[in-house]
Parts: sequence; C-alpha cells; structure tokens
Amino acid sequence: MPLKVHKDIASLVPYAPGKPIEELERELGIACAVKLASNENPRGPSPKARAVLSEAAHTLNRYPDGGGHRLRGALAERWKVTPDHVILGNGSDEIIGLLVRAFLSPGDEAVMADQTFPIYRMEVRAAHGAAVEVPLKDWRHDLPAMADAVTARTRLLFVCNPNNPTGTIVSAAEVDALMARVPEQVIVVFDEAYCEYVRSRDFPDSLGFVKQNRHVIALRTFSKIYGLAGLRIGYGVTTPEITGYLNRVRPPFNANSLAQRAALAALEDEEHVVLSRAMNQAEMAAVRAGLGALGLHPVPSDANFLFFDVGRDGRAVFEALLREGVIVRHIAGRMLRVTIGLPEENERFLQALKKVLAK
Ligand SMILES: *Cc1c(COP(=O)(O)O)cnc(C)c1O
Repeated sequence: MPLKVHKDIASLVPYAPGKPIEELERELGIACAVKLASNENPRGPSPKARAVLSEAAHTLNRYPDGGGHRLRGALAERWKVTPDHVILGNGSDEIIGLLVRAFLSPGDEAVMADQTFPIYRMEVRAAHGAAVEVPLKDWRHDLPAMADAVTARTRLLFVCNPNNPTGTIVSAAEVDALMARVPEQVIVVFDEAYCEYVRSRDFPDSLGFVKQNRHVIALRTFSKIYGLAGLRIGYGVTTPEITGYLNRVRPPFNANSLAQRAALAALEDEEHVVLSRAMNQAEMAAVRAGLGALGLHPVPSDANFLFFDVGRDGRAVFEALLREGVIVRHIAGRMLRVTIGLPEENERFLQALKKVLAK
C-alpha cells in the first residue's frame, strides 16, 4: 500500500545546505576547496570555546542540563532580562519550528518576505499553515506592505534582520512604525542571526519591545560570528509568557551539553567577536572592490555575505565556480550570495569568478 502523506508535506522541497568541502574535494579530486556558502565564521570557533570542549567531554555519559541554567543565566545577564525570558534551541532554526508548533494551527497564516530565510516557509507549510510572502522592495523588507498583509488569521510575522540572502536591514524607525500597526495576536519574530556584524546605528532594539512585554521574540545564534555552527546552539529572547508556551513543545534535551558549555565560553570571548567583525569589515570592502572591478555591484550588506547579480545565468556560474573549487550559493536567476572568507579565500573566489566570467 502506498504511504499516506499529506500534500502539504509531499509538496515541500528538502532544504539544500551549502555543499560540504569534503564532498566537492572528493568529486573534483582536489584538496583545497573553499567554502563561502553558509555564512560561517572563517576564523573558526572562539579559542575559549575550543578549550572547554575536552573537559566537557568527560561528562558525555550524562544528559545535558535540560533547563540550560548556566547559559540562560549568562544570556539573561548580558541582555538585562530574567532567565525566564530566554529559551535555548538546537540552533535558532529549532526555535522557529517551536514557534510554529506552539502558535500556528492548520490554516493560520505567517507573514514573511518573499526572498528570505527558507526555513520560515518550510516550517509554516509543514504545520499546514499558509506562508504569506510579501515581495522585497529594493532588496529590503517592505514593512508597511507586511503590516498590510496581516489578517485575523495571522499568528507570526518574520523579520529577518539583516536579511538572508540580501544582507539588508530595516531601521529602528521602520520597525517602530510596524510595531505601531501589528495587532496583539501576532508574534513578531526578529531573526537577528547576523546582528553582531551590523554597523548601522539605525539598527532596531528588538529587545526593547520584549522588555515592554510586546509579543516579540529576538532570535540569536552561536552559529555565525561565534563560529559554533557545528555544535547547533541558538537562543530566543522573549516574554516569559511566550517562553512558557515554547517550553511546552520543546524537546527536553534540545541543547546538548557540549554546545551549552562552548556557548558559555564563547559568550565571554569578546576579543574573538571583535576581531571577527573587524576582519569581516575589511574583507567585505576588498570583495566589494574586486566584484566592482568585474563590473558587478553587490547589494549593500550589514552581514558577513554579499548578494549580487552576476549578469548571466547564476546556476551556470555557480557550477563553473564549483569546478574551480569555490563553493558559493546560487539564490535564484542571476543572483548569487558569497560569504566573506579569509583574505586568501576571498582572493581565490575573485580569481575563479574572473576566470569563469571571461569564458
Ligand atoms: C544561519 C541563520 C540562522 C541560524 O541558524 P542556526 O540554526 O542557529 O545555525 C538563523 N536565521 C538565519 C537567517 C540564518 O541565516
């Protein structure tokens, strides 16, 4: 008998992660591929996080602290809230799923940008909800149009800030205007995976809304500037009421013990964050200049990646770059996204792109 699968699940397309380096090296028979596809920190994890892992390994026979007390306590202190405002996730990805599971019933709606982090749409559809996609305007979230898209069935509204894949931000004034219009029954999700890279002074204070007890959650992660993507640890800061509901659907040991321990150490390693941010800033300027020399004009970015129109079929360029040992992301049509890497990686990328475009 054929399996019975709901059409909302059967119609999903599995998330395509950035190609792993080892896989490309095997395929090409080379040993020095460069991965600039998943917005990871090219400088590696915080040395302080690395140092605590071997010690933490001694207690791997024990279940993790399901309450995540030390890490939640440190995060609460950092953000000037109480620990019951903080929830940990197996990556912030997981918290997106928990939000959908807790608050979105079949037929309910979630408002999001049309070109944004694909996990929102995937989770909403898997929960038999409707993803209401609002077109970006000049590659930025169109918050007035997103507010217009809210209906009585809307439960969640996602603002990815900076937006992945475009790197653009929305300002504090734009968010204030949104928050003045969004009805109480909607939870506004600020996905701030790249906030540590932002340089604009206009960046909104999402935690300020949480502290005013608005229905807001800020999602943060240790996967990006903290360099711990492989460990899977992220968190949300929101009202105790919302963490209370999220905890009802949270798997009890979702944040593993190594991740909790390493995140705690990484949080205290301000030097690693500062150096990573500085290198990103300098190297982004270099990559931007290199692309400019090829006649390409990336969208201004507040994150650790650049989004650009390559002027021809993006998939073909993406594949030609793979054959040069350079992994980037093809987003759609002519648009590519490249993560800012180490200086030598960025140079490899620019040389490879120059070669590919000369053909
Ligand atoms: C990378 C990323 C995340 C973080 O995912 P984790 O599950 O914490 O690794 C979340 N949101 C966006 C927009 C991202 O790009």
